[in-house]
Amino acid sequence: MKRLLPLLLSCALLAGCGAGQASPSAGTEADTQYFFAMDTIMSITAYDGDTSAALVAAQQEVNRLEALWSRTRPESDVSRLNDHAGDGTAVPIQPETARLLETAAAAARESGLAFDPVLAPVMDAWGFGLTESETTAVHRVPSQEELSALLPLTRDLPQVAAGEDGSYTAALPLTGQAADLGGIAKGASAAYVVDALTAHGVENAILSLGGNITALGCRPDGRPFQVLVTDPLASEDGYLCTIALEGGLTCSTSGGYERYFESDGVTYHHIIDPSTGYPAQSGLLSVTTVAADPALADAWSTALFVLGPDRALELWRSGEGTVAGMELILVTQDQQVYVTQGLEEGLQFHGEEAGYTYEIVRR
Ligand code: AMP
Ligand code: MG
Repeated sequence: MKRLLPLLLSCALLAGCGAGQASPSAGTEADTQYFFAMDTIMSITAYDGDTSAALVAAQQEVNRLEALWSRTRPESDVSRLNDHAGDGTAVPIQPETARLLETAAAAARESGLAFDPVLAPVMDAWGFGLTESETTAVHRVPSQEELSALLPLTRDLPQVAAGEDGSYTAALPLTGQAADLGGIAKGASAAYVVDALTAHGVENAILSLGGNITALGCRPDGRPFQVLVTDPLASEDGYLCTIALEGGLTCSTSGGYERYFESDGVTYHHIIDPSTGYPAQSGLLSVTTVAADPALADAWSTALFVLGPDRALELWRSGEGTVAGMELILVTQDQQVYVTQGLEEGLQFHGEEAGYTYEIVRR
């Protein structure tokens, strides 16, 4: 579990941006809440407004969404959807779940199923799914036969229907199918957390929801928040670069280094290429996306990790589609770092000594 420590450290550094400094709007001091949810450490720092009530409400919001989206809680919307896969039942779901499934399906379609919200049968075969905690997971390398039998279950997206009364249902068409929204749910939560914070008068805050960092407003000194991007090769905590994150944007990082196991000297990580059923080998160590929509930032960091650097930059350069509206940091296995031009201002590169070279990519 190397993942937890860097997360904690980056949270601490982020919180440190504002600690002890004057708040931009007079009144309360910065207040930080750390908590464990969605199988990861989260932190929220609020710089103004009714910070204590805001942080309680924000954490409650994450807990509420986890109760809807968890695969391990039998009563969650996702568990009930999975339980009825293939039996023709249209399962009642909350509007938040309908929105999440729709966003996930949009990312799936646009990425050619590189982002796949129904990859659960394959995730489970590797032992990456269905555990409350990664520390209790039992990992294994499934046989090619086993994966070939499971892959047909990972291609049909959930069918979401809206009722006339504003209610929603969802269904999975095939028996044995299961949704796993681990690649999008944490990012998607950020929008709800921001709403909970603003409802309590918070205008400036920084959220770190397991690999997804969302900025609301700015730092107490009026400058944008700074986010440290992890060096995916560092055995201890090490950082590749610092970027400036403007208010309203989310920075989401996906990397094979976050969760993995070793078997017979081979490392297998948790981001699966849905076209093969094996951990994605696209030549990337990590992908960071910066986007206005936190759910899409999260989904596409996973999708671009699967698609690889050439396709990622092609989508970004095309000027059309979701990726063209994002900024990217792509870290390749040969330690080349591609940073798209929108992140150039405020970029501090820390990776030279560790052997990285970087290039600003322009349109
Ligand atoms: P992230 O850390 O956001 O990249 O999400 C990784 C998680 O997403 C994994 O732990 C799985 O639950 C899930 N996942 C893995 N591969 C994929 C994929 N190709 N598409 C969608 N979700 C995936
Ligand atoms: Mg993701």
